Amino acid sequence: MALFSRRACTSWRFVVVDGHKDHLPGDCAKCWVACRNVIPKRAWADGTRRCAECAGTLVHCPILQVRKALVEEEGVPDDVLAALVTDSYGPVSMKARRMLDERAAARAPQQEFGAVPLELTVSPRRAHRQLQALNTATTNPQPALAGQRQSVWDQ
Ligand SMILES: [Zn+2]
Ligand SMILES: [Zn+2]
Repeated sequence: MALFSRRACTSWRFVVVDGHKDHLPGDCAKCWVACRNVIPKRAWADGTRRCAECAGTLVHCPILQVRKALVEEEGVPDDVLAALVTDSYGPVSMKARRMLDERAAARAPQQEFGAVPLELTVSPRRAHRQLQALNTATTNPQPALAGQRQSVWDQ
């Protein structure tokens, strides 16, 4: 795998094929093609291993199982979640909405942090703990690399 481009997309890409229905990634070489698009440097550094083209085909894939797996994925990008918010299947759109809300909530306190000074009643130790909790909550997810083949479409 690493013999290809250094920053190659590792996703399956869905292709609409007449007469093919509910074929899962890896099971059919016609509806699912392995992608080798190069991922932009910055996105790669952020842990992105699926190019925008592939993500676009998955978001609109008619196979519900695929969209369900997509919304359940670790570190789904915000733009993918935003697209899934309009999913025709309620549980998928609700999960996408909830995750976007949670991410927004996790980011919000940091912005207000500077505006509202810590009260004197808060002990330095407690303030330190709060800051730690805040940092944990707002840290970018680490890129998951090797050995991750649990999802339905990963190669
Ligand atoms: Zn097929
Ligand atoms: Zn791709």
